[in-house]
Amino acid sequence: MLVATHLFIPGPTNIPEAVRSAMDIRMEDMRAPDFSTFTLPLFEDLKKAFKLTKGRVFIYPSSGTGAWEAAISNTLNRGDKVLMSSFGQFSMLWVDMAKRLGLNVQAFEEDWGKGVPVEKYAEVLAADKNHEIKAVFATHNETATGVTSDIAGVRKALNDAGHPALLFVDGVSSVGCIDFRMEGWGVDLCVSGSQKGFMLPTGLGILAVSDKALEAHKSSTMERCYFSFEDMVKHNDNGYFPYTPATQLLRGLRASLDLLFAEGLENVFARHSRLAEGVRKAVDAWGLTLCAEEPKSYSNTVTAIRVPEGIDSAQVVKTAYFRYNLSLGVGLTKVAGKVFRIGHLGAVDEIMIGGALFGTEMAMRDCGIEVAPGSGMGAAVEYFRETTTASANSRSEARLKLAS
Ligand SMILES: *Cc1c(COP(=O)(O)O)cnc(C)c1O
Repeated sequence: MLVATHLFIPGPTNIPEAVRSAMDIRMEDMRAPDFSTFTLPLFEDLKKAFKLTKGRVFIYPSSGTGAWEAAISNTLNRGDKVLMSSFGQFSMLWVDMAKRLGLNVQAFEEDWGKGVPVEKYAEVLAADKNHEIKAVFATHNETATGVTSDIAGVRKALNDAGHPALLFVDGVSSVGCIDFRMEGWGVDLCVSGSQKGFMLPTGLGILAVSDKALEAHKSSTMERCYFSFEDMVKHNDNGYFPYTPATQLLRGLRASLDLLFAEGLENVFARHSRLAEGVRKAVDAWGLTLCAEEPKSYSNTVTAIRVPEGIDSAQVVKTAYFRYNLSLGVGLTKVAGKVFRIGHLGAVDEIMIGGALFGTEMAMRDCGIEVAPGSGMGAAVEYFRETTTASANSRSEARLKLAS
């Protein structure tokens, strides 16, 4: 039988049935007199996913990369000095974009497997007495290596130095999955996208913005048009957009937020943490290691697994796809051939993780990685059984809430 490919890449992620059916609707009039009764509460609720009460969110018809650009071009000036770090595909590409947009970038190159070098940031910020650095950038969850960085630590470094720079965070593969506190951590611009934790198709670039960033926008002179905050604010304030919005995706976003809130954000984070731990128990039982170097930075949304010397990780991914109808993430650029990734974010549960581990074990054995059959799965089975109560409870509570 032809079954849809089992999708375990770290985005796009699996779309829940409720979200899919919310999007399967006729096209609607985005200038209808009552369209704002849908959009204004949507904007407010979307802020909750970032733990943002003030400020605002912008929803662009773009991928996450568009929101990266919107963040920079609306708040900074050509030649501005910014502090960044590169330790994986996505943090590397943001550095590249910042350079191409004309910023004066100081970027730390870290090993792929490490995260934001908080101590180095602290030193640079403390030494920058004249406050020449206008913005500090941090990738919260590096999707290429499965590394989560300490954003609270970056905020502390800024505060300790009494430094006024804006804090930019890439939360594309963390918001809606891993605890993220826009206001708690004093983040000024947080970039996200629709196809990861929000469990939607690709097509929305989501950007959460603090009041401080909105203030910085007023004196920012960088060229911008499509992504301009002014145009967005003018229309968004009344519930409309400066150009045709992706209305079906917005309807899907409504459904996805409803799911996240019915489960409860803290329960969503706990679910991701538990599923990720199950995957890590499996990796451990296989006798393999992670790309992420330190346990404190292990990602709860994606696990990048190193293959033994002499094995090509791309072969494992290909085998999983062609023989077992399982999509795993490949190793990108610096870790190509060396790691493969299991995405475990969005609409996932234990049984799905079990399927992913099952297919991964088969593909690995086919490729000459001598893991004992069932070893990783067995470790996950026991871990999930031992930790099931809270998760089963929050699932039934969410079901009740959605039914009422
Ligand atoms: C996916 C991803 C992006 C890029 O988003 P696109 O939607 O592909 O443009 C940026 N940063 C991180 C951390 C990501 O995981």
